[in-house]
Amino acid sequence: MELFSQKVKQSELEKGDHVYTWRKNMYTHHGIFIGEGKLIHLVNPKADGILHISTASKSWISSGGRKKEKTPCAMSDCGLEKVAGTGVRVTCIDCFIKKGSLYRFKYEASREFLVAKLRGGTCNTARSDPPEEVIHRATYLLENGYIEYDLINNCEDFALYCKTGLWSKDISYQGRSSQANMVHPTKMEDKVGSRMQRFVTAIPRSCSKRENKDLGIREDVVKVAVEELSSFGLSLLR
Ligand SMILES: [Zn+2]
Repeated sequence: MELFSQKVKQSELEKGDHVYTWRKNMYTHHGIFIGEGKLIHLVNPKADGILHISTASKSWISSGGRKKEKTPCAMSDCGLEKVAGTGVRVTCIDCFIKKGSLYRFKYEASREFLVAKLRGGTCNTARSDPPEEVIHRATYLLENGYIEYDLINNCEDFALYCKTGLWSKDISYQGRSSQANMVHPTKMEDKVGSRMQRFVTAIPRSCSKRENKDLGIREDVVKVAVEELSSFGLSLLR
């Protein structure tokens, strides 16, 4: 049954796929598959004990002052964060899924499919760009950095942007991924306000109904080239 069959085997992955895995059966963590067993994803350095490699020292350090929790895996650059502090990392599939399963995020989902999915963070009605564009965006953001992780801008937003290039042009209507929206459907205004101090604007913000804020339905989103994402964000603040 298609509705429940987003699960994929590692061997079935295709470059540019947006994949996710369940964490604690409560929320989904998202990434972009770039081939050779690797994913690029956005992590929350403050909450995630994942180790990353300091590019300067090439040594393993733990994020957020946490203790080292595991030894590095066989992939030499697994966990590499090229621009320290941005949370964009390249990770092997096994470290990404952490004994969980892998699922492919669905694009061009029908509205019925969207509504039928009880939990956010699994599908979208928007269309995905070709894989080479998706990988270009993800690797560019790995190399050059990205916006800090928070509830407004999380791992799902990162993957959605890589897949679609869509970003909201409405500073007062900044949004988030579907699953964060389900956690906190309201009360984001003050947080948005404080974020304005920095370069920030994330993909879609929401109405209380997930369907209404789906990227494929919203009219406030535009394509923004990854090379211009930073200046685009700043321009919204003027
Ligand atoms: Zn690994």
